[in-house]
Amino acid sequence: MSEQTNSKPEFIWINIIFFGLSFIAAIILVPWYGFEYGYHFSSWAWGIGLWLFSSTSISMGYHRLWSHKAYEAHPVLKVILAFGGCLALQNSALHWSSDHRKHHKDVDHDVLDPYSASRGFWHSHIGWLLKREDNGRYDQDYKNSPDLQRDPIVMFQHKYYWLLSVGVNVAIPLLLGLAYGLFWEMLLVAGVWRLVWSHHLTFFINSLAHIWGTRPYTEENSARDNIVLAVLTGGEGYHNYHHKFQYDYRNGVRWWHFDPSKWWIKALSWIGITKNLKAVSVEKIEKAKAETLLLKAKEKTAHLANAEEIMQKLHDEYEQLVSKLSEVYAAQKQWLEAKKNKLLESYEQLNLRQEYEQLKKNFELQKASWLQLAKQYA
Ligand SMILES: [Zn+2]
Ligand SMILES: [Zn+2]
Repeated sequence: MSEQTNSKPEFIWINIIFFGLSFIAAIILVPWYGFEYGYHFSSWAWGIGLWLFSSTSISMGYHRLWSHKAYEAHPVLKVILAFGGCLALQNSALHWSSDHRKHHKDVDHDVLDPYSASRGFWHSHIGWLLKREDNGRYDQDYKNSPDLQRDPIVMFQHKYYWLLSVGVNVAIPLLLGLAYGLFWEMLLVAGVWRLVWSHHLTFFINSLAHIWGTRPYTEENSARDNIVLAVLTGGEGYHNYHHKFQYDYRNGVRWWHFDPSKWWIKALSWIGITKNLKAVSVEKIEKAKAETLLLKAKEKTAHLANAEEIMQKLHDEYEQLVSKLSEVYAAQKQWLEAKKNKLLESYEQLNLRQEYEQLKKNFELQKASWLQLAKQYA
């Protein structure tokens, strides 16, 4: 998509100065102080702790709760997340979510996606925050977020955002500095370093997570899965999965995927703080993966003389896979329902379970055969 903007961008000087100075301070003053005077453990403990708190607030709150409504949260948790969002200094939850919804709706579109990766690393990382391309498309009427405009916690945070945000970013390092008698250390580590580090890690999700990584679930957009980014951003790096299934409260969908936000949301649901967690079924996920592989193989074999023959083979295997997939999940559903309702005789439950397990084995065999064939070509 190469639609270009006509109007001249207007620079946002306050952002240029703020991001520029804080970045320079983080890469020069922070190491210089360390070499010159050394740091105390408590400064880094607070710096890292505050970074984790604010980035979790962005991931769990701004992103999964408010932008995507992937679960519901108790007001106490919402207040905590809104507070963490002030510390993160990434604008209000309403503003952030409105931008993010635009990003998902028109991902990679040069004009409609506010941080489109199709315009390159620099623009998607930070360039979009430094200039206003003012031809009405970035109008901040929040029309795409009427639900958030009805949320009193979101609206309170939005109304007082800059006061709260600047306030906590100054007050917290200051109070820590006074409490520990480490004024400059706390200012540099819990203030400057923490803020710059968390800013750029979040920005990497808009830039690097659309450039670097794999695309197992969809190739319709540039979003990618990347384990390095997942570790650095509390689970946000499984961005290809996320763009395919944005309403899932998980970004790392397998149990072993590093996704602390998912673990928090799940764990808090056991004590009723979070509820109505939305999760896509295994069936849909498996199907998306198979479909992506099929399309990849199709593209790669299109130029071969026997392309048609290969495609036929791939299609046959794929169709068998999909039909076995729906069989196995229908059987699983039946068995689980029988177990839950306890309406059936136990031998019937047992039969349903055995049937499910047999179908699952068939599916696994078909999946192995499908992968063997598809990966030859994809
Ligand atoms: Zn994205
Ligand atoms: Zn998202």
